[in-house]
Amino acid sequence: MRRAQLQALDRQRGSAFARGYDTAWRRLRLVVLGEEPLCRFCRERGVVRAATEVDHIAPIASRPDLRLAQANLRSLCRSCHAALTASGMQRRGGSP
Ligand SMILES: [Zn+2]
Repeated sequence: MRRAQLQALDRQRGSAFARGYDTAWRRLRLVVLGEEPLCRFCRERGVVRAATEVDHIAPIASRPDLRLAQANLRSLCRSCHAALTASGMQRRGGSP
């Protein structure tokens, strides 16, 4: 998503500070999906599929400080995200 669009959204919704933490997350989510519009797991398999979900690489439970760190986020499609969550990889992801 373009910066101008994000700024337009900001003007409609109020600033992230005014609206709280979750607005910051939703906005970051849109940035991630804008910069990485295709599912990362599918792409690694040579499949082109639109991403609809943003996943935390290190789960929030183990690294709450990285919740809004863009480097800790990746775009996934719904089925990859569901499979990841079901496999428990997400919970193990941040542990040494
Ligand atoms: Zn996928």
